[in-house]
Amino acid sequence: MEDCIFCRIIAGDIPSTKIYEDDDVVAFLDLTQTTKGHTLLVPKQHARNILAMRPEDAALLFSKVPLIANKLVHKLQAKGINILQNNEEIAGQTIFHTHVHLIPRYDDNDGFI
Ligand code: 5GP
Ligand code: ZN
Repeated sequence: MEDCIFCRIIAGDIPSTKIYEDDDVVAFLDLTQTTKGHTLLVPKQHARNILAMRPEDAALLFSKVPLIANKLVHKLQAKGINILQNNEEIAGQTIFHTHVHLIPRYDDNDGFI
């Protein structure tokens, strides 16, 4: 998918700050740092969103969430973390390559609801 921004990030054609990578997924910092460390976890294999994925591929993606979440919370000394995921425009999806948002939380006034 050469017109997909996240496929281009995965390929290294668009720069990003990668915080984790293995055979199946990449995690990199979101351009918009909603809070410090806001990260996107994406499958290397292109899929439009969760609605278009095989259950086993979605399960593989989500199996990586605890590892990335713990890495962020411990490294950044966050007090918690929001994990969320948007599918289709009506639900707030703007980039049509499946991604999981990981948003570290620091205190009640860190700017994210
Ligand atoms: P969505 O609204 O689809 O759930 O989230 C898309 C996210 O991708 C947004 O939070 C946006 O800031 C992020 N984003 C869009 N373009 C880029 C980019 O080129 N690089 C990075 N690192 N993040 C991006
Ligand atoms: Zn893609």
